[in-house]
Amino acid sequence: MQKEDLDVFVVGAGVIGLSTAIRALEAGFSVTIFAEIFPGDEKSIKYASCWAGADHISVAATGAFMHELEQETFAVFKGLLKEDPDVPVMVRPHQRYVQDDQPDNWMNTDHLRNFYPDFSTLDASELPQIAVRGAAFSTLCIDVPRYLPYLMNRFLASGGRAFRTTLPSLSALLSNTDRPTFEVFPPNSSRSPPTLRPTAVINCTGLGALSIGDVLDTRVYPTRGEVLIIRAPWVQRDSGFRWTDGHISYMIPRQTGDVILGGTYQPDDWHPKSRPETVKLIKEHGIQAFPELLHPSKRETLNIEDLDVIEECVGLRPTRKGGVRLEIESLAVGERTIPIVHNYGHGGAGYQSSWGSATRAVQLLKSVLKTDSVY
Ligand SMILES: Cc1cc2nc3c(=O)[nH]c(=O)nc-3n(C[C@H](O)[C@H](O)[C@H](O)COP(=O)(O)OP(=O)(O)OC[C@H]3O[C@@H](n4cnc5c(N)ncnc54)[C@H](O)[C@@H]3O)c2cc1C
Repeated sequence: MQKEDLDVFVVGAGVIGLSTAIRALEAGFSVTIFAEIFPGDEKSIKYASCWAGADHISVAATGAFMHELEQETFAVFKGLLKEDPDVPVMVRPHQRYVQDDQPDNWMNTDHLRNFYPDFSTLDASELPQIAVRGAAFSTLCIDVPRYLPYLMNRFLASGGRAFRTTLPSLSALLSNTDRPTFEVFPPNSSRSPPTLRPTAVINCTGLGALSIGDVLDTRVYPTRGEVLIIRAPWVQRDSGFRWTDGHISYMIPRQTGDVILGGTYQPDDWHPKSRPETVKLIKEHGIQAFPELLHPSKRETLNIEDLDVIEECVGLRPTRKGGVRLEIESLAVGERTIPIVHNYGHGGAGYQSSWGSATRAVQLLKSVLKTDSVY
């Protein structure tokens, strides 16, 4: 049997599902994505990927395994940029500052120095008045509203198939008798209904892993992120600021001239709408840390009313105690047992670890199917 005869189902069309599906296609499998939400849909609290900034900033505390995934992903993004200048990813200067000198994970200079080749610490003369320490390096900013359709189109153009469905469980994908409803995606494509005889399933359901039957991973929880989208086409750098009270302000530019201004990290907070008091806090901290968010003519007065706010956003980062789950399990339905590869729980680092995770998931798939030796 050839690898292209092996039907692999990927559940989830966020940045993790799409990247994984592309890697599986590239490895020679026949791949179908099943998901409730796709790129281009109205933004949803059930779809973390549409709310992200997103930049690539590795954090020391996430551990060696995550760092490997992030390093691989950094290299893949750099390669993509070389191959295709239109890919919606930008190299941007990043500066980060802290308001006090307490040692912390966010400004772990040893870790950042190892990670980002042009890392340097900033002199006192280069710091804003309200900061005591700072560092600079180049990083990547991913233009999320363009990058998700880019991944989707790349998947479809390479022969992938996709169906919209809401699955009560992964085993619902294995039974032709009790079929959920499937809608072809994109809706105008001429595809026949899927045959539910997968060789393996890759589970990229993010926060869905908490509630989807036969996964029910209680280690999964949301880390709520409230951010604002600001119109400020003159902002070209990526930056972060840690305040003494622990609040982190950050801004991430997009190619369109919009800038993400964050934000919050609130574990186990499911509230899906913005809170007026948080919006005010993000604005107040934001203009003090980054006065350039304001139009040049408005920077003297630092008035939050002068920020050109386009949207108030809330997203739930799919976080997992113990970190990302890249693991094989098997699923028995009737007389059939098929392998499941899990790839979820990336928290606030799904973009920056996406390609590394996708490659690992496909390696697990190949190892369990023994495709390199048997087929
Ligand atoms: C405010 C904010 C800022 C962020 N900033 C960054 C950043 O700067 N850098 C970075 O790397 N990351 C960042 N992240 C994190 C990043 O967005 C996530 O880690 C990433 O999007 C997770 O992707 P995912 O594909 O696992 O999940 P999701 O994007 O949530 O996708 C899950 C998919 O599974 C599908 N699904 C789930 N359950 C079911 C079901 N039962 N049936 C069918 N389909 C189902 C959904 O429909 C969806 O398609 C940020 C996140 C937020 C919220």
